[in-house]
Amino acid sequence: MVTIIGAGLSGMAVAYRLHRQDIPVTLLEANTVTGGRIQPASPDSNTQQDLGPSWVWPYAQPVVESWLNELALKTYPQFDKGDALIDRHPQQAAAPQFLPGQHGMVRINGGTNAIINRLSRSLKDIIQLNKTVTACYRSNDRFFLNITDTGVTTQFEADHLIIATPPRVAIPLLQTSGDVEKPSLQEELKDVLPILQQTPTWMAPQAKVVMFYKTAFWREQGLSGRVASQVGPMVEIHDHCGPDGFPAALFGFVGVPAEHRADKESLLASIEQQLVRCFGHDAPAPTQIVIKDWAFETLITTDADLTGPANHPSVISELARKGWCNNKLWFTASETSSVSPGLIEGALARADQVANQVSECL
Ligand SMILES: Cc1cc2nc3c(=O)[nH]c(=O)nc-3n(C[C@H](O)[C@H](O)[C@H](O)COP(=O)(O)OP(=O)(O)OC[C@H]3O[C@@H](n4cnc5c(N)ncnc54)[C@H](O)[C@@H]3O)c2cc1C
Repeated sequence: MVTIIGAGLSGMAVAYRLHRQDIPVTLLEANTVTGGRIQPASPDSNTQQDLGPSWVWPYAQPVVESWLNELALKTYPQFDKGDALIDRHPQQAAAPQFLPGQHGMVRINGGTNAIINRLSRSLKDIIQLNKTVTACYRSNDRFFLNITDTGVTTQFEADHLIIATPPRVAIPLLQTSGDVEKPSLQEELKDVLPILQQTPTWMAPQAKVVMFYKTAFWREQGLSGRVASQVGPMVEIHDHCGPDGFPAALFGFVGVPAEHRADKESLLASIEQQLVRCFGHDAPAPTQIVIKDWAFETLITTDADLTGPANHPSVISELARKGWCNNKLWFTASETSSVSPGLIEGALARADQVANQVSECL
């Protein structure tokens, strides 16, 4: 039995590959939902709007392209016709201007969550939600996991383990011991733990805002919906409509540091002021605004992600891609990939690689 910790994209994609080879697999997820950083902006999981990733670049991402084909998912270009707006001053209206730079960015019909929905369908008997793994240790060549479910801790045994949490999130559970006979994995993993600790979780300190509208009024005014702002709180805004313009929506990335955005009411008020500055007093107000602050998601984001530099991820040491504990423990998650680490492409590429590595060792 292969046990996977974390039902984000990478953990689910490995589970899908192994399950298709008839390899017994269990997927343990701490959250009440699957998807990890991929989440829809409405309880209807078929919504087009995303609180996490929105874009893929299939022309340069062969692994994404092949998974989209395999799952029969279609894409459409990011809407970018018309002028952008440059938002430079808190007391002045934003000014229209051509902005290049969105070449090849596409969106997935049904949002990025459509990938999660497709994988979930095949994995419904395999995924266990509300299962927080709090410790992993080893005895007699078997893994033992402590799992907490609504306050009750139980023990779970596994022959093979795939860690699919963001690298830094995995550290505490790999360092926690059982008892004297079941030591933690800290000693066996001592060469790779510092590498995991130094690997930031891509986009973890970000907050994303989705604004729903009755119609995409900006398109009718010759605007692309794109805003570049020097004053914020949203530093970038983009058109976020469905394929034919419905449902109509914009999304923005909040540029205010995490510690200054905990007060949601004042954040919301400054978002509304920015929308007026950008689109004018006569522009329709959003019918709904949804804010997702990833900085406060402890299953994704650690303190180190909030205090360290937010560089684009680079390819980390090969040690994160080798088998540990006699080829019985592996790391996946986008940040461990040797291609496009941090991105959807990385999550899927590493999942394909881990599925091959594990099936060769069984
Ligand atoms: C706002 C935002 C915008 C982004 N934009 C883009 C984009 O446009 N294009 C792009 O390619 N990428 C983008 N990304 C990155 C993309 O979302 C990630 O690369 C991808 O989703 C990572 O998937 P993953 O499975 O590797 O990790 P995750 O999605 O982080 O999954 C990890 C899973 O592990 C679970 N877990 C954690 N701890 C435990 C535990 N102790 N026990 C059990 N389960 C646990 C978590 O709940 C989670 O479900 C964006 C990310 C964010 C947040």
